[in-house]
Amino acid sequence: LAMNYRGPFRVRADRDKPYPEILHPGDAIVRVTRSCICGSDLHLYHGLVPDTRVGMTFGHEFTGVVVETGSLVEKLKPGDHVLVPFNIACGVCPFCKQELYGNCHESNAEATAVGGIFGYSHTAGGYDGGQAEYVRVPYADVGPVVIPPEMDPDDAVLLTDVLPTGYQAAEMGGIKIGDTVVVFGAGPVGIMAAKCAWLFGAGRVIVIDHLEYRLDFVRNYAQCEAYNFRSLEDPVLFLKKTTGDYGADVCIDAVGCEAAGSAMQTITGRKMLLQAGSATALYWAINSVKKGGIVSIVGVYGPTFNFVPIGNVVNKGITIRANQTSVKRLLPKLISHIQSGYINPKAIVTHRVPLEEVADAYHIFSSKLDNCIKPVLIPPS
Ligand code: NAD
Ligand code: ZN
Repeated sequence: LAMNYRGPFRVRADRDKPYPEILHPGDAIVRVTRSCICGSDLHLYHGLVPDTRVGMTFGHEFTGVVVETGSLVEKLKPGDHVLVPFNIACGVCPFCKQELYGNCHESNAEATAVGGIFGYSHTAGGYDGGQAEYVRVPYADVGPVVIPPEMDPDDAVLLTDVLPTGYQAAEMGGIKIGDTVVVFGAGPVGIMAAKCAWLFGAGRVIVIDHLEYRLDFVRNYAQCEAYNFRSLEDPVLFLKKTTGDYGADVCIDAVGCEAAGSAMQTITGRKMLLQAGSATALYWAINSVKKGGIVSIVGVYGPTFNFVPIGNVVNKGITIRANQTSVKRLLPKLISHIQSGYINPKAIVTHRVPLEEVADAYHIFSSKLDNCIKPVLIPPS
């Protein structure tokens, strides 16, 4: 059983997808125990990522049990319970050597920038993902990590992407003691970014979204301020005013491109451009950060062209930092933050859905129904 992409806004559970096989002696086959749907999957689902082919299985956030290993695999054995970072990384290229696992040079032959990613279109290597009963894991000695025995399985699956991405968003922001940090987006990634911003010494953390249930959640979860941009006349002016007219020290974009939708109507006259891959949050981030401030982008921009007010970046001397998350690099630190009790990632899981009902799960998460924050798909056991 595997999720199968049929075209924009159409996915289904497929019983006929062939069982994955070891294609290289460094591969492992993993029986999936949990697999999340991510905001990044929504970009695929909305048809915003180039070369997303019909028949692909998505899913880059999963845990499972190793069932088979290739002859070169040394660190894993059948029966191991593993969490699998979303990056597919060779471990030996110059980028992996610098722990830039999201930019591996070997795992994605066609791309100039991104490395391989499970279930993330042919732009990211064309690998099938983990929204399935079984998945092939290339370079199995590099990414997967055996789950500490006492760890909650939901915490483990959230270590494959969401928590590291929130952390890296805060880290790239170069937050200094006392800084005001604004996080755009109160989805799973924005929630984790807000929580992690305090670890770097933020003095004030503000989250912006328009979904009240998510604003309520993040206020409580990350002990931060949270505002609905629909009730603000102009989010940029509001943020300026509340930061003594200078602007925020750091702005984080945890939104990325959006399918045609409400948020992008806020910039009048630019609707067409924005629908080719909106950047409302990024626009707001650039315009509400202070001069010389840092904008950290973890939101994913599928389309080749996106609207960025580059003139303002230059004139204000803004530093923009962005990347796919290097999951493996951050795992030891984040496991210890979970063990210490500072972060409780599993609190964001709102939906557990059998893999058979994957189409419903996509619909609910995409349309933000039923107070959904993070859905987890459970394959039949
Ligand atoms: P999500 O869809 O659950 O959350 C996005 C949130 O942004 C929603 O709550 C939405 O209401 C809000 N939003 C929309 N427009 C906004 C605006 N203009 N201002 C403020 N908020 C706005 O998604 P998620 O799982 O939290 O992921 C967020 C982004 O992070 C996505 O773009 C995803 O692709 C990206 N991501 C990147 C990486 C990476 O490695 N860089 C990893 C994981 C996810
Ligand atoms: Zn993800």
